[in-house]
Amino acid sequence: MTGGTWRRRVSLLAAFALVVLLAACGRDDSRIIEHRLYAMATWIDVTLPVRAAREHPQLIAEIEAELRVFERDLYPWTDGELARLNAALSAGEAFEASPALAAVLVSAQRAAVASDGAFDPGVGGFVELYGFHDAAAAPATRPDDAAIAALLASSGSIRDLAISGRRITAPPRRFLLDLGGIAKGAAVDRIADRIEALGIAPALVNAGGNLRVIGAREDRAWRVGIRAPRGEALLGTIELGAGDATSTSGDYERFRDSDGERLHHIIDPRTGRPVAHTEAVTVIAADAETADAASTALFVAGPDAWLEVARRLGVTAALRVDASGRIEMTRAMRDRIQTGTSGDSAIIAVVD
Ligand code: ADP
Ligand code: MG
Repeated sequence: MTGGTWRRRVSLLAAFALVVLLAACGRDDSRIIEHRLYAMATWIDVTLPVRAAREHPQLIAEIEAELRVFERDLYPWTDGELARLNAALSAGEAFEASPALAAVLVSAQRAAVASDGAFDPGVGGFVELYGFHDAAAAPATRPDDAAIAALLASSGSIRDLAISGRRITAPPRRFLLDLGGIAKGAAVDRIADRIEALGIAPALVNAGGNLRVIGAREDRAWRVGIRAPRGEALLGTIELGAGDATSTSGDYERFRDSDGERLHHIIDPRTGRPVAHTEAVTVIAADAETADAASTALFVAGPDAWLEVARRLGVTAALRVDASGRIEMTRAMRDRIQTGTSGDSAIIAVVD
C-alpha cells in the first residue's frame, strides 16, 4: 500500500471518529471485513474475519437489534428504561431495573466513587441545559449563572443511589442520570462478548472511539490511531493486543466556541461547566466499559488528580492533553504508543 493511500484512509476516518482503526494492508484486506452501523449517536464498526461473517449471516443483524435496545434503554432522552428510572427516582419512588441497566449503574457508581465525583452521570441536567442532549438541536449556548446554580442545588448524583440487586432507591432529588460517558463502552463489551462466545477471532468493535479487540491477529498487532485534539493530524498510534480496550474523551466531539470559551459536552459535576483544563484523554483498559468511564473521569479529574483516579480505576496506561496542547502520559502508555505520526513538535512528558 502506498503512503498516499494510507494517509487518505486515515484522514477520511478521522473526520468522524476519535480513534480510527488503521487500515489493514496487503493480503489482509481480503480476510477481514468492516461492518458499519449507526447507533447511540455514533458510528459503530464491527470488524470480523470474512469467513466468520459468512458462517454467522445473522450476527450483524443481531448486534444491530441489541444496539437499538441499548440506545433506547440507556439514554435518558428517549422513551426507555433510563428515562423511567429518572422519573421514578425524581418522584421519590423505588425502581426495579433490568439486569443490564443495574449492571451499568453499578459500574458507573463505582467510577463516580473512585473519581471523587469527577465522573458522575448525574450531570444530565447540565448536558440538557447546554443543549448537548440532542444532536439535531441548535448548537450549545452558555446558560446563565443562576440556571447553573439552581441545577447544582437540585441535581441528584449517582453516588446518592442505593443499588440492591435490581432495586434502586434514592433520596428525594431531581435525577437526570445520563449514561453517555459509559454506555458506549458497555455496548462494546456486550457485542465483543457475543463475538467471543461464538469463537470468532480476531475481531474488533469500535463505537466512536470506544474500542475492544477480540483475539490477536497472526501477522501483526491491531494498531489504532489517536487523533490530535486540534487539527486533523494523528497524535500517535497505539498497539492493542488480545482483549485490550481503549477509549478517548475529547473536547472536540461536540462543542461550540463562544467568547473564547469552548462549550463542550464533558461537564465538571462540581461546577456545572464544561471542563477547561483538558483537551483529550486516552486510556487502555481490560474492558471497554472501564475504559469509557475512565477516559471521561480522568478528563474531568484534571492535572492534580488524574493519575490518582487512574490508579484507583485500575488503569495504568493513560495519556492526557492539557489545554495548552502539552501531552503527558504514564510509562505504561509510553510503552504502547508511537507518537510523532503527524510530524508535530508536541511537548511530551512521562509523568509516573
Ligand atoms: P463521547 O461520548 O464523546 O465518547 P465521553 O465518553 O467522554 O465522550 O462521554 C461524554 C458524555 O458523557 C457526555 O455527552 C455526557 O452525556 C456524559 N458526561 C458529561 N460529563 C460527564 C461527567 N462528568 N461524568 C459522567 N458523564 C458525563
Ligand atoms: Mg467515556
